[in-house]
Amino acid sequence: MKSHAKVVVIGGGVVGCSVLFHLARHGWTDVVLLERDELTSGSTWHAAGGMHTINGDPNVAKLQKYTINLYKEIEELSGQATGVHLTGGVLLAATEARLDWLRGVVAKGRYLGIDLEEISPNEAAELMPLLDPKQFVGAVRNKEDGHLDPSGVTHAYAKAARKLGAEVERFTKVEDIVRRPDGMWRVITNKGEVVTEHVVNAGGLWAREVGRMVGLELPVLAMEHMYLITEDMPEVAAWNQKTGTEIIHAVDFDGELYLRQERGGMLMGTYEKANKPWSEYQTPWNFGHELLEPDIDRIAPSLEVGFRHFPAFQNTGIKQIINGPFTFAPDGNPLVGPVRGLPGFWVACGVMAGFSQGGGVGLALSNWMIEGDPGADIWAMDVARYGDWATMAYTNAKVRENYSRRFSIRFPNEELPAGRPLKTTPVYDTLSAKGAQFGVAYGLEVPLWYAPEGVKDEFSWRRSSDFTHVAGEVAAVRDGVGLSEISSFAKYTVTGEGAAAWLDRMLACKLPKPGRMTLAPMLKQDGRLIGDFTLANLGGDGWFLAGSGIAEQYHMRWFEAHLPGDGSVRIEAQGAKLTGLAIAGPKARDVLAKVSRADVSNTAFPFMAVAKMDIGMAPCLVGRVSYTGDLGYEIWVAPEYQRAAFNALMAAGEGFDIGLFGSRALNALRLEKNYGSWGREYRPIYGPLEAGLDRFVAYGKEADFIGKAAALAERKQGGKLRLRAFIVDADDADVIGDEPIWFGGAVRGWVTSGGYAHHSKKSVAVGYVPKEIAEESDGFEIELLGKRHAARMQATPLFDANFERMRG
Ligand SMILES: Cc1cc2nc3c(=O)[nH]c(=O)nc-3n(C[C@H](O)[C@H](O)[C@H](O)COP(=O)(O)OP(=O)(O)OC[C@H]3O[C@@H](n4cnc5c(N)ncnc54)[C@H](O)[C@@H]3O)c2cc1C
Repeated sequence: MKSHAKVVVIGGGVVGCSVLFHLARHGWTDVVLLERDELTSGSTWHAAGGMHTINGDPNVAKLQKYTINLYKEIEELSGQATGVHLTGGVLLAATEARLDWLRGVVAKGRYLGIDLEEISPNEAAELMPLLDPKQFVGAVRNKEDGHLDPSGVTHAYAKAARKLGAEVERFTKVEDIVRRPDGMWRVITNKGEVVTEHVVNAGGLWAREVGRMVGLELPVLAMEHMYLITEDMPEVAAWNQKTGTEIIHAVDFDGELYLRQERGGMLMGTYEKANKPWSEYQTPWNFGHELLEPDIDRIAPSLEVGFRHFPAFQNTGIKQIINGPFTFAPDGNPLVGPVRGLPGFWVACGVMAGFSQGGGVGLALSNWMIEGDPGADIWAMDVARYGDWATMAYTNAKVRENYSRRFSIRFPNEELPAGRPLKTTPVYDTLSAKGAQFGVAYGLEVPLWYAPEGVKDEFSWRRSSDFTHVAGEVAAVRDGVGLSEISSFAKYTVTGEGAAAWLDRMLACKLPKPGRMTLAPMLKQDGRLIGDFTLANLGGDGWFLAGSGIAEQYHMRWFEAHLPGDGSVRIEAQGAKLTGLAIAGPKARDVLAKVSRADVSNTAFPFMAVAKMDIGMAPCLVGRVSYTGDLGYEIWVAPEYQRAAFNALMAAGEGFDIGLFGSRALNALRLEKNYGSWGREYRPIYGPLEAGLDRFVAYGKEADFIGKAAALAERKQGGKLRLRAFIVDADDADVIGDEPIWFGGAVRGWVTSGGYAHHSKKSVAVGYVPKEIAEESDGFEIELLGKRHAARMQATPLFDANFERMRG
């Protein structure tokens, strides 16, 4: 074994081998993979080997498509058969709600280049002869489904990597990982030590244990998973003979089952409700090529549905039941990327669909390690989407919920209950008592809307029980004044003598003067967005940044990686140490004036001013800015004072009919101002010009901010896309995001978010289209629940286009 390497990859499952291959293919050949046993000795060897392109997140779906297309290449490169059978498949719906969901999947496929087609149950039965069409209301055909040989694929990655110069050491167990003072890592094994710049944790079933070697508790948990294999079936033989082809894959969402042909019989797997975690706290090191005891009682309810939906199963024997463990993150997507605070330590774990996702994970991670950027939008897989709040018990609750819902519909207005409430603010109980219906952002309970007694969300793709109540919250803001809880924003303080110069380099905006704020886009080296913030200059007290709450860890990782080594700049994420309230609407100033002795007149405290002031007795930081696009204020307050500030504002607001509003109303309000948000409109694949944030970029400023050259090039060349708002001729449903935008009879763009703008009484969609059609006003259509709706571009904001309210 070599004593030095540029990269050590820990784990020889399908994911580790893919990472090794991608690193070598990208040019890093001084790389070694360490496997404690034979390759595939974790969850890989007993997988069912199914692969598919569908994923709830379109960016992950793209990487799944990449993975499936890669198998031919690694087979040719390695000379190792991967056993890929691209059979195609049918996705089955037994309810109308499921069919609505499938129509959304077909629609997304249009701009992702995934060939999906809605078909009738009878057409599905012609393709997949074992199903009973009477059990279903509709189906979708997917040509890119199939299965493969898990061991063959893993060895093909490893052999291809070796051919490119990478090394693989089997029977080499990593026992400890130690960081040297010079930043290099010592990877200590049972066969000696390797010193390396980069460590990749692809430990699969043992990813937690490998993480613990460096003090990291990763939010992953293994679950038991069962599939059965039947005896040979005459129906299968007859079909094979008649058509000369295999029986295609089927996913029966309502039965929570997947099926495919296995030799002369069938394979049926379940995601059962009565699921069971495996090795909840510690994975045994002596586990290897073993299976777990099957428990047919646990999967009996799913099998009952399966045998009804696929009657031929009733006449066949079960040859074998496989029960094996594999790992999940709380939301079921992988954990990939560099780990904050551990330079050179990377993770590629929690991959629950290694044969659909392994290639994409390897590609993204190798790009990230070599180029400094994953080269794709991989937010849905980024390890930084979790923070310390994702504890072991939280992960356990969420993974179990996610497993049991693997094939369930998640409606756009559906909040999942497991692991909640976890993080709450001091006004949580007060807001609850006033009817707040909560969602979660980065672990924190966030009020979505306020329901009267006896009313709650009825889950639906269409406008639902909250509609009129959210309309009322919007009216409270636009007609008088509303108050919302905004603690879910990420808040950062930046101090030290180097702070101004550092911010000038990190952020693309012009730095504001003391007592002033500005909108601050942050770019990567390639000139694309990596953040958008409100930056406040607090004079002698340093700087304050407010940004997207879900991206706190993501941004801290970026900030810390760019801090000067001399200690001249300190940045601290305030998290729940700072809570927030906001008031907005034409009467907001009157309310503030009643609770504060500060002069809050428009002259003394104009738009984008920031100052410390007491609200009642509570010391606060107040900024005159509002995401509602109205006259408004954001108020930052230590948690011990949040209740006092809340009570003071509510009491002062009584005379102005103050109303509480939640984030659904806020969405309706910001839509009529064309305001975007991080994670929806603003993502790391768009440039500031494309995203309409170029007006906040100080292209001419002296500081050489990160991404400056690339941003200037984008401005010169014009970028490819433009973010635009549309008014949709909708019926009873509004866009939620990821719907296709049609123009001239073809899909030309995609929706990033939208909803109903209650004040303007318009259904709004926001999304990206190519710049060539971005100045057109008519001729657009937006596909919603399988139907195309006419849409008109809305160039100017629907509300307060002249900024009279906001600045007045
Ligand atoms: C019953 C079942 C059916 C499945 N069906 C499918 C399917 O149809 N399609 C699909 O895509 N996925 C399926 N999966 C999931 C799939 O198996 C996983 O996604 C995949 O195996 C994850 O691979 P991995 O490389 O991340 O982890 P693992 O396969 O667990 O690999 C981790 C490797 O790291 C090694 N290792 C760990 N710690 C150390 C250490 N300290 N030193 C050295 N080596 C170490 C282990 O020995 C192991 O070989 C199924 C899983 C099960 C259990």
